[in-house]
Amino acid sequence: MEKILELINKYNRIIIFGHVRPDGDCIGSQYGMYYLIKDNFEDKEVYISGESSEYVGFIGKPNMVDESLFNGALAICVDTATAERVSDQRFMKCDYVIKIDHHIPVDNYGDYNYVFEKSPACAEIITGIYIKNNFKMSKEAATALYVGINTDTGRFKFDSVTSNTFNTAGYLLDHGVDLSYIENNLSVESLEVLKLRGYCLSNFKMTDNGFAYIKMTRDIIEKYGVSDEDAASQVTSISSIECCPVWAMFIEYPSEIRIRLRSRGPAINTLAEKYKGGGHPKASGAHLDNWEQLDGFVQDADFLVKEYKKTLQNNA
Ligand code: AMP
Repeated sequence: MEKILELINKYNRIIIFGHVRPDGDCIGSQYGMYYLIKDNFEDKEVYISGESSEYVGFIGKPNMVDESLFNGALAICVDTATAERVSDQRFMKCDYVIKIDHHIPVDNYGDYNYVFEKSPACAEIITGIYIKNNFKMSKEAATALYVGINTDTGRFKFDSVTSNTFNTAGYLLDHGVDLSYIENNLSVESLEVLKLRGYCLSNFKMTDNGFAYIKMTRDIIEKYGVSDEDAASQVTSISSIECCPVWAMFIEYPSEIRIRLRSRGPAINTLAEKYKGGGHPKASGAHLDNWEQLDGFVQDADFLVKEYKKTLQNNA
């Protein structure tokens, strides 16, 4: 941590990066880091570069920063496991790269890497930097970091949550977090999204052994008039089916088919790795090259669930 502070002291210009298709933890961590520098280090030029997210747009909306700013700058990449997932690849043009992350460290692309894979959210790690140094924390910073932790823990539900997560959330509450403001922003949705959820609930498929999935094609996204981000968020619509401990959404983007894979039983990251992806045991992502590969993936996922249920039976 001292090394990070040393580097922030050394560089006058700092650019904060996140990952492609940013989520709450990504944007929360980017803004948490932004305010940390702005409010605690004098005379620093700080920028946030990358994509924005409608879902957590109330925290702030990053833009791609100007090309002229990279030379001589310090890059801080948050919540991003691999170099290729950084949403603005120009981060490589910066003089020095710090990676702050909580994913399995498969790619130590930073010149300095600050990674705690047991932490449930990158925002928890960044809040830890505030706490250890007794840094000034604004209400905006606390809100951004709380949203990061809240969303990446499935609202404090996942196995990765520890007492430290609750202590950290308590610290953020003490620094001005308004729970109902955050809850309203995270849970209100458009009529179009609600109707799409109806479609998902009526059209998901289920294999014999209990793998549930939704095929989200371009025509459906267009028919319901929702953003790709809103369509992708509907992976949660089939999360509570008792006999389906593993579920997924296959979402067709203009240039790729992405898989959002979730589990409340077996580890799924190895399956994701087989399909050009990775992630956590209970939440992973992967890709299909085309729809012809769908059946193969479904069979693999079905087999995983079958083996998991067999183990449960044997242990009963
Ligand atoms: P998502 O479904 O995009 O929310 O992703 C769930 C988790 O899997 C996140 O922690 C991502 O970082 C990770 N993940 C998603 N896609 C990939 C990928 N292509 N390669 C490695 N990890 C991924």
